[in-house]
Amino acid sequence: MDLTPQNHRIHLNDGNSIPIIGLGTYSTPKTTAKGACYEAVKIAIDVGYRHFDGALVYGNEDEIGRAIHEKIADGTVTREDLYYCGKLWNTFHPPQLVRSSLEKSLKLLKFDYIDLYLIELPLAFKALEALKDAGLVKSIGVSNFNRRQLELILNKPGLKYKPVVNQIECHPYFTQPKFKEICDSHGIVIVGYSPLGTCRDSLWVNVKIPSLLDDPVLNSIAAKYKKTSAQVALRFQLQRNIIVIPKSFNPERIKQNFEIFDFSLTSEEMKIVSNLNRNERYVELLMWKDHPEYPFNDLY
Ligand code: NDP
Repeated sequence: MDLTPQNHRIHLNDGNSIPIIGLGTYSTPKTTAKGACYEAVKIAIDVGYRHFDGALVYGNEDEIGRAIHEKIADGTVTREDLYYCGKLWNTFHPPQLVRSSLEKSLKLLKFDYIDLYLIELPLAFKALEALKDAGLVKSIGVSNFNRRQLELILNKPGLKYKPVVNQIECHPYFTQPKFKEICDSHGIVIVGYSPLGTCRDSLWVNVKIPSLLDDPVLNSIAAKYKKTSAQVALRFQLQRNIIVIPKSFNPERIKQNFEIFDFSLTSEEMKIVSNLNRNERYVELLMWKDHPEYPFNDLY
């Protein structure tokens, strides 16, 4: 696998491909300045990012769309160079609402199509197949599905398109080795969210788990390569063929997080980082714990 800043797409099971690093764009709306996301996306495109991870519910798809259109207009990129992943929110699962939810995103982004559309939390798949047939999305996938929920979809009679990805929490403290094997066996790529260990907002993050980026092992490997713990955490996932979507709205850190193609971890270091796994989630979504389809009662 020869990934470079210019060429770092990997294949999906429906024939499409996806850049292995994307910019995460979730930022607490109350404390995030208007326009911060817009600036971050423009900087990220200049740095070399070609993949953006967003959602209608993040409340900033208009800013992402505006930044992308400006970068297309000034000749930096074309729409085809770029990859956008959107998400269907829980309240839009009834099949008759699915298309209008996507259309809201398309309108905010001012796009004719998006590259990937995920069900943000279980369930609602059939209506997404129709969006792919209509050419409004190139690929469909899921997010926060556990093994049982994923297999429910895969074993569904009449399934037309397999999900291409499952976007789940994944980083050195939560490496998901068994679930990765299962996803691999179905040709489903993992998109690892919170790859740097989240923003540690105690409103939705389990902050009892120590800060990933302060980990001494990650920091000592980082020192060897003159890199940061964040770059080691991201590189580790890249070498496992896991897509990473680090969020940053800070120009230096947006750049830093993309500088992961010029070093590699040895197999011994890969093992050492794998051993940091704690089988604990930062993102537990406890507010939905009583829902019958709450996905995290099982480890995977
Ligand atoms: P990340 O693990 O990407 O961490 C983001 C935090 O780390 C921010 O506070 C950021 O601050 C900081 N940061 C970024 N780069 C560095 C660096 N190099 N060194 C030190 N700190 C750094 O957390 P997220 O939870 O945001 O996950 C990433 C993305 O995944 C989200 O933005 C979203 O797109 C997606 N996601 C999807 C979910 C789902 O249910 N499907 C759930 C959670 C996330 P700053 O901006 O100041 O740099």
